[in-house]
Amino acid sequence: MTTFLTNGRLPDGTRVDIGVDDSGRIESLGPAQGGTADLDLEGWLVLPALGEPHAHLDKALTADLIPNPRGDLGGAIAAWAEAAATFSEEDIISRASRALDRLLVNGATAVRTHVNCSGEFGARAVTAMIEVRDRYTDLVDLQLVALPSRPLTGEDGRDNRRSLEAAITAGFDVVGGAPHLDPDGEVATRYCLDVAREARLPLDLHTDETLDPEVSLLSYLARLVIDTNFDLDVTASHCVSHGMQPESVQGDVARLAAEAGIAVVTLPQTNLFLQSRTKRVATPRGLPGIQALRDAGVIVAAGADNLQDPFNTVGRGDPLETATLMVMAAHLTPDEALETVSTNVRQALGLARAGTLVGSHADLLVIDSPTIRSAVADGPGSRKVVRGGRMVAETRTHSVIHR
Ligand SMILES: [Zn+2]
Repeated sequence: MTTFLTNGRLPDGTRVDIGVDDSGRIESLGPAQGGTADLDLEGWLVLPALGEPHAHLDKALTADLIPNPRGDLGGAIAAWAEAAATFSEEDIISRASRALDRLLVNGATAVRTHVNCSGEFGARAVTAMIEVRDRYTDLVDLQLVALPSRPLTGEDGRDNRRSLEAAITAGFDVVGGAPHLDPDGEVATRYCLDVAREARLPLDLHTDETLDPEVSLLSYLARLVIDTNFDLDVTASHCVSHGMQPESVQGDVARLAAEAGIAVVTLPQTNLFLQSRTKRVATPRGLPGIQALRDAGVIVAAGADNLQDPFNTVGRGDPLETATLMVMAAHLTPDEALETVSTNVRQALGLARAGTLVGSHADLLVIDSPTIRSAVADGPGSRKVVRGGRMVAETRTHSVIHR
């Protein structure tokens, strides 16, 4: 049976009808005929669905409960560590669901979230997030990354290593870690890669979340992937130090990452918030060298990271907000910025392509906007979110000026 979505508008202005087959893929795309519709797209702009490649849903929406007066990464980690044990499993499910609802209504049907799996909080968060993943199966591709606390290495890291392994046994999708916080970042990187290889899972690390240009765990990770013939997907998130390195070094590291097939996830919102707090002159933006990465052919996706928690007190759970930051802080065009929060996210997450091509998944954002540029600039509220040809969320905004 074919589902017909009619009267959509492509970015070039063409009006189209879209046929979607039972598997949720686009089987036909042709000029709008005005026939019977399962869903009328009302002439709105049809784009590939958005995605969030790096969230922390277990921490989301706690900004008013957990202040971070210092405002930096160390302050956020300390504030979180003090408060985390107070959250019940129900608290985590409730907040994570509200955060995921925001992402979904804004157009994200693919979300990867890093989940703290260490200690008392971690044990609850692992169970809670598996429950959330089950509840949203029909709505969102939700990937759970097991994120252990520091340290991972040495005697002191034993419990954290156990937590990581327990989360994998519980059914997590991706192996994570934050090796830049570890006393030995290279050993921690190697350990995470070995765990991923053993579990046959992709790897996604918090890499180099520091302004120190000497720290280059991205190049270490890339060499390790190449030297050990690691054959699963690898993502390096943050890579802040890459943006502080001289251009020639940026280029070398970017080419190495491309050779290793590593996708880089940049997180402008949270890194603009957390980094450079003490630098009042020529303040760095906390992003990797985006142009060098793109020039080398690295898949660059962009996410928000934290959502209204001690790591980032603002954020709207809208990938189009991230896209505007990619225009402002990374100097991408609106079309390029949109790719970093849609097509490139699915690629980084190892998901099949979505969008308006025959054979692609019919995961679509249908938005009341004339062009891609205006969609990114305005972030209009009126949106229909389509997953596999079925509308899974709908929002309409309406304003009146009373003169
Ligand atoms: Zn993160």
